[in-house]
Amino acid sequence: PEIIAPYTLKIKDMTYIYPGGKVPVLSGIDLTLMPGEKIALLGRSGSGKSTLASLIRGDLEPTSGQIKLNQVPVKAFGDEIARYIGVIQQTPYLFNTTIANNIRLGNETASDAEIWEVLQRVGLEKLIKKLPQGLETLVDEAGLRFSGGERHRLALARILLKDAPVIILDEPTVGLDPITEQALITTFLDVLQDKTLLWITHHLQGIEAMDQIIFIEDGQIEMQGTPEEL
Ligand code: ATP
Ligand code: MG
Repeated sequence: PEIIAPYTLKIKDMTYIYPGGKVPVLSGIDLTLMPGEKIALLGRSGSGKSTLASLIRGDLEPTSGQIKLNQVPVKAFGDEIARYIGVIQQTPYLFNTTIANNIRLGNETASDAEIWEVLQRVGLEKLIKKLPQGLETLVDEAGLRFSGGERHRLALARILLKDAPVIILDEPTVGLDPITEQALITTFLDVLQDKTLLWITHHLQGIEAMDQIIFIEDGQIEMQGTPEEL
């Protein structure tokens, strides 16, 4: 299906039970992400946050209720959903090919100039310019020298190049040292300014910049409000 901007993501009375599971991991979820809205999603480990991200991406299908992007169930997009919804996970996956190919993934026609542009935005331009092979450096060779934070920046460059309007960050800074983490959060919020953002996080640092904060507990939305209200 073809849909046009602006994009609104609507979750309506959605429940999800894993195949073979007895209790719902998520139940009665109602949530709307308006175009450009920034929402932080907090909740304890196991509360269903990553499951929700998979459902929004259409990787899982709701047991009941709906998840729609501009009236179209996300599941109906198949792989095409990547044009509209991008996810950055806790451990971004890099492929065993060149830096350029890793960033071009899902956007094969992008020029080198476009790649350099996103690398500049995520703060990696200088580092990659210094590599003798530049964009053609194989990631498995350079991989050892890419730190956790740099890997996340590469994943962010990939997402930016695709230019999906809705971005989900699933605890993208877990396991980084505090200084790298802070720098990365600043970059994320800066380059994703014009996107709709669902930021799954486990701590409060940075969430004052969000429009809404949601706490999820035992698969249900327990609290929802602006940073000032909560
Ligand atoms: P964390 O903060 O640790 O990342 P989370 O909030 O992202 O946790 P989920 O990964 O969504 O939590 O998991 C929610 C619940 O669903 C957990 O109880 C988990 O064990 C269960 N679960 C996750 N994946 C599966 C699966 N593939 N099959 C069955 N149960 C699953
Ligand atoms: Mg998770």
